Amino acid sequence: MKALDELTFDNRFARLGDAFSTHVLPEPLDEPRLVVASKAAMALLDLDPAVAETPVFAELFGGHKLWAEAEPRAMVYSGHQFGGYTPQLGDGRGLLLGEVYNEAGEHWDLHLKGAGMTPYSRMGDGRAVLRSSIREFLASEALHALGIPTSRALCVIGSSTPVWREKQERGAMVLRLAHSHIRFGHFEYFYYTKKPEQQAELAEHVLNLHYPECREQPEPYLAMFREIVERNAEMIAKWQAYGFCHGVLNTDNMSILGITFDFGPFAFLDDFDAHFICNHSDHEGRYSFSNQVPIGQWNLSALAQALTPFISVEALKEALGLYLPLYQAHYLDLMRRRLGLTTAEEDDQTLVEGLLKLMQNSGVDYTLFLRRLGDESATLAVARLRDDFVDMAGFDAWAERYKARVARDGDYTQEQRRERMHAVNPLYILRNYLAQNAITAAESGDYSEVRRLHDVLTRPFEEQAGMEQYAQRPPDWGKHLEISCSS
Ligand code: AMP
Ligand code: MG
Repeated sequence: MKALDELTFDNRFARLGDAFSTHVLPEPLDEPRLVVASKAAMALLDLDPAVAETPVFAELFGGHKLWAEAEPRAMVYSGHQFGGYTPQLGDGRGLLLGEVYNEAGEHWDLHLKGAGMTPYSRMGDGRAVLRSSIREFLASEALHALGIPTSRALCVIGSSTPVWREKQERGAMVLRLAHSHIRFGHFEYFYYTKKPEQQAELAEHVLNLHYPECREQPEPYLAMFREIVERNAEMIAKWQAYGFCHGVLNTDNMSILGITFDFGPFAFLDDFDAHFICNHSDHEGRYSFSNQVPIGQWNLSALAQALTPFISVEALKEALGLYLPLYQAHYLDLMRRRLGLTTAEEDDQTLVEGLLKLMQNSGVDYTLFLRRLGDESATLAVARLRDDFVDMAGFDAWAERYKARVARDGDYTQEQRRERMHAVNPLYILRNYLAQNAITAAESGDYSEVRRLHDVLTRPFEEQAGMEQYAQRPPDWGKHLEISCSS
């Protein structure tokens, strides 16, 4: 266990120099205070969890203090936003403070979001408000607990600094952890600004530090791109299987590591709705729930374009062709497991699709339905769950098919079925209304609800005594919350 001043830095990205990032000091928040910290994320840095409560913790992650070895930098990148190319973006309000390595030899970027203006702030104020910082914190730790690759969050620091959005709010900072903060948009930036040397330097950096196994391949860059395609196919399959909607899938929000990254107006589905749009400024539904699948491929194509200096177009196309089949295989595998199936049959895809269509038409809660399906034997569970469906005859037909499929699947006890299904079907997810309750309390200075919710979400598959209120469908007020994109 380490104290805060015992972290070991090795700032590899900063060493790439000024063509890649700019030195900027964090702008401190007034009266910084701890809102919430993740013990699990602290453990990634070997930090003693007790240090979160010390004043120096809030000072470090509220922008007042800095380690001597830190080298805070704002990174430059660009990206395709809603389908159009924006030639220059960059860290407009976040800083890569430095890279730390832990005792296991893993490197972690420390990225402070909401740290003030940078050369890339454009029209923004460089700040992040408390509500969006809490949402990012909760989402990253909740996704991780569900087994979905994601950036992590160490803590949220609140303050008395006024920040103007639609109304006056308070500034906050979230400390994000990831093995890298390099985005698809980094490669696009050097490609479109025609800087082949830096482009090559960036590619070498990513290959050496993040995909070293690809070095052994005959075409290392192609192997790396293939791996990126595979990781994204798997990540998006998990989003779709667990009902996670990212909301702003621009290429500058896509990590080169295939992890969920840069949270905005994201949402987990309550009722199953394939057409759900969580970002209310996404008028055309470009980033709707079901569109995430083709958008994943679109974004990978944008990255492929930026990699044409290194890899032939034919090879890139071939690698892109892996995306859909891989996505489908991962998705179906997860959905089979969510339905309690241990074997694979040809027709499983239509079994899943049939269920989703019925859920869509009746507005059935996605998470709770699948959780309850494992509570009892298939026969008893479907008999109880049919009341949730408007089209009962349709559900009965599906249920007959499902029961027959379960019977063919294998001979196991209800105990085994429940255990297996509950291990993949969460009881607790980060519903928007739960986040909203925690935010409302935090905005009035009470952080206990954020901490409790975070704690519940770190063990989503485990029924927790006294926490029934976190496993409910949203009340009417919480069903269609509009999450502001100004964050
Ligand atoms: P996002 O939609 O949050 O991924 O942000 C898109 C771009 O806008 C990124 O370059 C951000 O750094 C920048 N940005 C977002 N909000 C602010 C802000 N309040 N101040 C400065 N830059 C911002
Ligand atoms: Mg972003």
